[in-house]
Amino acid sequence: MRIDVVSLFPEFVAQCAGFGVVGRAVERGLLSIHGTNPRDFAEGNYRRVDDRPFGGGPGMVMLVDPLRRALASARASGDGPARVVYLSPQGARLDQAGVRRLSSLPRLVLLCGRYEGVDERLVRAEVDEEVSIGDYVLSGGELPAAVLIDAIARLQSGALNDAESAAQDSFEDGLLDCPHYTRPVEHEFGAVPDVLLSGDHARIARWRWMQALGRTADRRPDLFAGRTLSKTDIALLRE
Ligand code: SAM
Repeated sequence: MRIDVVSLFPEFVAQCAGFGVVGRAVERGLLSIHGTNPRDFAEGNYRRVDDRPFGGGPGMVMLVDPLRRALASARASGDGPARVVYLSPQGARLDQAGVRRLSSLPRLVLLCGRYEGVDERLVRAEVDEEVSIGDYVLSGGELPAAVLIDAIARLQSGALNDAESAAQDSFEDGLLDCPHYTRPVEHEFGAVPDVLLSGDHARIARWRWMQALGRTADRRPDLFAGRTLSKTDIALLRE
């Protein structure tokens, strides 16, 4: 998969290509990340990329044309069509299903805003979808782009080692993940639950499933409400 990031600070997003799972996905050739700076497509001595908003008010708005040219260049740099995603607090809130959908595409162009955001005409003409990483406002789209890239990288086949398998992560089966423990067995903060030391794989799987169900019901009743419980789920919850 190829991801192009259109940003005034492309090196900020490129940083995430150097570490952990994203770094491994890049190293293994599963993902490539490229930056395009709209300032390189701006005109005049000052290479302006923003201007004051019509109608007055605080802040600056990103200009249509440098972004338009930057997007065209990013699109042309790879093969085949790319989906253009504008990271915006006004977009659809990102969830694991959304990440999965985007991670299955061969190409993405991520547009990062700054200041008050991007001239609305550019969004309407060039953007395929708007994605928010949550109901709060950051000063730029670079962190949201890095968040999306990280979540996508985990889902590229071969990016995770077995021990980190994404299949057991929260949200994959509509539930939160179960709690995890490692050595030592006894600690002043408590002991590891006996069942995990039993070697009985069926019992362990049942315990984990029950913990996941219980946690989801406690912590995320919204996720739990949308779930149809099987007879086994109900029996486990009653245990
Ligand atoms: N005036 C805009 C509003 O209230 O909707 C906020 C602009 S914000 C200061 C600047 C840029 O940060 C946005 O254009 C967007 O790219 C990015 N951004 C901020 N919060 C975000 C969020 N929650 N999700 C995704 N992108 C975000």
